Amino acid sequence: MNIELLDILRCPFCGGRLELVSSMYHRSLSDQIHDGILGCHCCIFPVVDGIPVLHLQPAAVVAREHMEAARPALALRAMVGLESDEEAERFEAAAASETSTYSKAAIFCIASRIPRMSSPMRCCAPWPAQCCGEGERGAPWTYAAAQAT
Ligand SMILES: [Zn+2]
Repeated sequence: MNIELLDILRCPFCGGRLELVSSMYHRSLSDQIHDGILGCHCCIFPVVDGIPVLHLQPAAVVAREHMEAARPALALRAMVGLESDEEAERFEAAAASETSTYSKAAIFCIASRIPRMSSPMRCCAPWPAQCCGEGERGAPWTYAAAQAT
């Protein structure tokens, strides 16, 4: 995330300004924050691979704990929902493609855990709480990944 985003980002709980907690693990290059912790008066949130995660759902809390312990790779695994080293290796290989997104790479890697369905799945079926809101529009690749296993 560009550091200028801190001028407009606000805590979803108290409305306060967020700042990079520079006393904790962080990785920045030029004006980009790649990994770290954002804090306000009430909460702290992880920045995982450049993405500020401004909620307190379980995956974000686990990711924040990994980030606090300077384990950014494990923070990313927590956010994506990867459960094993094997899934992480497949995810990293799939995510390396310039045309891939984290969502597509994750679905590809965890497809074996997705129950087969007779009709297309919703885009964010594995993570309904973090749904992208695209609904059925995201179905084709998800469905294809599930069918490929
Ligand atoms: Zn706050």
